[in-house]
Amino acid sequence: MSRLSEIKLVLVGDTNVGKTSLVSRYLYNKFVTPTATIAAQFMIKVVTFANQSYKLQIWDTAGQERFRAMAPLYYRNADVAVVVCDVEQRKFASSVDFWVSQLQKSTADNLVIAVCVNKSDIDESEWTITRQDLSDLVDRSQVAGCEVYVTSAKENKGVMPMFQASIEQCLDKRAKNSNAEHEAPRRTRSNRHEAPELPQEVVQLKVKHDRKASCC
Ligand code: GDP
Ligand code: MG
Repeated sequence: MSRLSEIKLVLVGDTNVGKTSLVSRYLYNKFVTPTATIAAQFMIKVVTFANQSYKLQIWDTAGQERFRAMAPLYYRNADVAVVVCDVEQRKFASSVDFWVSQLQKSTADNLVIAVCVNKSDIDESEWTITRQDLSDLVDRSQVAGCEVYVTSAKENKGVMPMFQASIEQCLDKRAKNSNAEHEAPRRTRSNRHEAPELPQEVVQLKVKHDRKASCC
């Protein structure tokens, strides 16, 4: 059996925003009362996109301050990072900004970053954030190139579409990168055909000659 191509997805964010619950909803379609995550845990799921199967590695990290220093170990080499926050989080905006900037600082350009606002089932009268906070978050995320998703792990709203869309975005990027890689050698070959590389001595002579020509 041929080895499946891998996709590494990591969830980051402060503690209690629902990271573990989102994973449990996505993988098992269950909402259970999770126990606090220690450092990180990872799970594997085989997913299929456009008739091709992939080995999806999901890393669920712990958001507590004492584990923050370890987070880069988990999002290093990630293809997708989901920054989770929730509607009753006190440090909603600063938390998302913190995680997005951490991810942008220390990972490759082709990382897909998604921002997930969880617990949308909670009545708006109990939110600690305002609609304005939410729309500011959308604006800032657009500038940073991140999609924003609103989910409820509890009521199973928006969870599947968020994971699916982020993974599809990652696969699109991969396809574009591999097309670019295939095109690059072709360009080199055709350049070589049009203008053969000159030995160093010839290049130097040519430069001298050109200089002479321009001063006369
Ligand atoms: P984590 O620390 O980010 O992994 O968060 P958990 O998944 O452990 O969830 C923290 C608390 O939030 C738990 O009591 C969950 O039951 C609750 N929770 C998680 N997702 C939701 C949601 O979508 N809606 C509501 N109302 N509560 C949620
Ligand atoms: Mg957790």
